[in-house]
Amino acid sequence: MANVGRVIIAGAGPVGLVSALRLVRAGIAVTVFEKAEALHSEPRASTFHSPTLELLDTLGLTSKLLELGRPAPQWQYKIYETGESVIFDFGLIADETRYPYRLQCEQFNLVRVAAAALEREAPGTLIFGAEVTDVVQNHDSVTATFIRDGKPETMSGAWLIAADGAASAVRTKLDIPFTGETYPAVSFTVGTPFAFHEHLPGLLGVNYYWSDFGPFSMFRTRFMWRVGWSPPPDSVDEDTLSEETIQSKLGKICPAGSPFQVMTARLYRVHRRVAETFNLGRVLLAGDAAHLNSPAGGFGMNGGLHDAFNLTTKLIAIHNSADAGALLDHYTRQRRSAAVDDIQSTSDANYRRHREKDPAKRREVLADLQAIAADRDRHRAFLMDNALINSFRRSEAIA
Ligand SMILES: Cc1cc2nc3c(=O)[nH]c(=O)nc-3n(C[C@H](O)[C@H](O)[C@H](O)COP(=O)(O)OP(=O)(O)OC[C@H]3O[C@@H](n4cnc5c(N)ncnc54)[C@H](O)[C@@H]3O)c2cc1C
Repeated sequence: MANVGRVIIAGAGPVGLVSALRLVRAGIAVTVFEKAEALHSEPRASTFHSPTLELLDTLGLTSKLLELGRPAPQWQYKIYETGESVIFDFGLIADETRYPYRLQCEQFNLVRVAAAALEREAPGTLIFGAEVTDVVQNHDSVTATFIRDGKPETMSGAWLIAADGAASAVRTKLDIPFTGETYPAVSFTVGTPFAFHEHLPGLLGVNYYWSDFGPFSMFRTRFMWRVGWSPPPDSVDEDTLSEETIQSKLGKICPAGSPFQVMTARLYRVHRRVAETFNLGRVLLAGDAAHLNSPAGGFGMNGGLHDAFNLTTKLIAIHNSADAGALLDHYTRQRRSAAVDDIQSTSDANYRRHREKDPAKRREVLADLQAIAADRDRHRAFLMDNALINSFRRSEAIA
């Protein structure tokens, strides 16, 4: 298949689908190859930050997500045993955004609404069961090899967006270094419909707890509570995932819920990595294929969606005759800087703060956070970093 003006996208996650929708609406031919046979239905990301909601609103998607999610206008760090806490309030930055909250809404909701819009507006754009395995390019075009029904096929286009996630086959094929580290602890997230908010005093929509039985987080989406923690370093995955371990941990948090109905349980490794470049000739990396960070703060998908908007704006300009080389180098400069200087550093600070084990140091962390919350200017600055507003604005301002 030869489609010279086409944009080929590897991966139908949030980044691939939102990129596709934006390009299709600009009149550009797009094909998305997804190796799975259907859209993924794991909850994964559950936080949408305000700049992301503003961007998705330009595609008409935010109103749908608001119906499917639950806004959290405040969030807190809290010591489970004593109830001491510090609360951060997005109301303080209501003059900076139309969406002064974290919207707690599972990632599969975005994927579903974006895929449905794509299917309505450009039927046949999204091809399931098609795994991209190779990419070759020359001065004029890029050709992807994909495996469908066990057989290799090829398609050529003008550009290829690698939105094929953390283990990106495209990034690997092109030998683009993905340097960084893997955090020592694994993370575990469980979803349950149990109404923790009726039992735990002072619970907000987003909570980071320190406790004598380890740090844990609790987020409330529309239909469930998502509870996350790290199992002890020497744990065996099978034990972590066992019903007994899950019930025991949730029972420590709130004995009233036992036995808990468990809707989802997922163990995952946490990395901090970034690709050396986000543009190599006609291939552009975006989302998890380009950068990974700790989930503390809920930035991974958000940062990937900021890539998607930045990149597609440039591809639309190139389609309308702008100079490709300069614009795509600019994409790397802007979005790689956002990934490293803002997203990785803020999520890493959040991760270390929440994992602090020494009770004395933990108390210092709480006192520091309380000092930030008590000072209006520092509180606002903290919110602007943690809502990714500063990250988004700084990256857009990079020349
Ligand atoms: C438990 C958990 C909680 C998280 N919480 C948050 C949060 O609250 N907020 C936040 O912002 N982020 C969060 N994240 C991170 C977020 O899920 C990712 O950053 C996000 O999914 C990245 O989107 P993506 O489209 O780049 O990649 P993915 O969502 O990984 O999508 C990649 C797609 O490509 C497909 N694919 C892979 N290889 C190929 C191939 N060779 N050919 C064709 N298709 C292929 C895959 O099947 C998949 O559909 C969380 C992650 C986890 C695991």
